[in-house]
Amino acid sequence: MEHSPVKPEADTAVINGLSVDVEDWFQVGAFENVIDREDWDGLALRVEDNVLRILDMFGEADVKATFFTLGWVAKRHGPLMRRIVEAGHELASHGYDHARVFTFDRKEFGEDIAKAQAILEDASGAKIAGYRAPSFSIDQRTPWAYEELAAQGYTYSSSVAPIAHDHYGWREAPRFAFNPLEGSDLVEIPVTTAILGGRRVAAGGGGFFRVLPYAFSRWAIRQVNREENRPAVFYFHPWEVDPDQPRVPGAPIKSRLRHYTNLKKMAPKLRELIDDFAWGRMDEVAEREAAFAKALQDEWAA
Ligand SMILES: [Zn+2]
Repeated sequence: MEHSPVKPEADTAVINGLSVDVEDWFQVGAFENVIDREDWDGLALRVEDNVLRILDMFGEADVKATFFTLGWVAKRHGPLMRRIVEAGHELASHGYDHARVFTFDRKEFGEDIAKAQAILEDASGAKIAGYRAPSFSIDQRTPWAYEELAAQGYTYSSSVAPIAHDHYGWREAPRFAFNPLEGSDLVEIPVTTAILGGRRVAAGGGGFFRVLPYAFSRWAIRQVNREENRPAVFYFHPWEVDPDQPRVPGAPIKSRLRHYTNLKKMAPKLRELIDDFAWGRMDEVAEREAAFAKALQDEWAA
């Protein structure tokens, strides 16, 4: 029997959402108690080189993705923002400086996303319509966040991890796209989870993707695409493809383990993931999921 060079997974009709959360190595939640925001400007910027590496990888694989970018980063790397957009990717917002949504009140949140959006739009010339909360920090504590996003013209958000996790999570939230507001088309597309032994498990990237064997992610995304017939939403960070980044002393051992494990294996693992499935921009996923999200709203509102 002739062996087909095309992997069967790539044949499914489902196009998954590929996303990069653009922040530098010192801006991650894991180090927020060790590195002060006031000290950020004295640290070596590595995000530009890492994003360029990712743009090359995406170009070689001929995939488009969404770059959820901090306003703080866009302010310092204007030309990079234009390169992202010129390469056909979507530029979207990751807030201004990675403060979690539940640390704001509604007014402060509104100011944060407006500030980030203005910087991103000025730097790139592109319209910003998508948002990802830092550390997936939209949850049951922030009912006003979606109202504010809708009021500021956002069409979608990908800000919920529908799972219980030590740093984040909204375990009661739907696992797939839904309209969080009545009378609004705003779509929330949660990061991917899979069902394993009757429980939701994180399967959309982050430490799990780096630490666990690739076979787990492949199984999970295949299950979501084939059994549930829904797109997966996957994310990673520029610092995850940067094995030479400075080490942060004094961070908790658990944070360090999670942050530094398997950085060298990340780029080849990502290439495998990109080849095994069909991927696209998050705004396109949101558009395709609109009808599904609407149907789920009735269920959610009930
Ligand atoms: Zn982030």
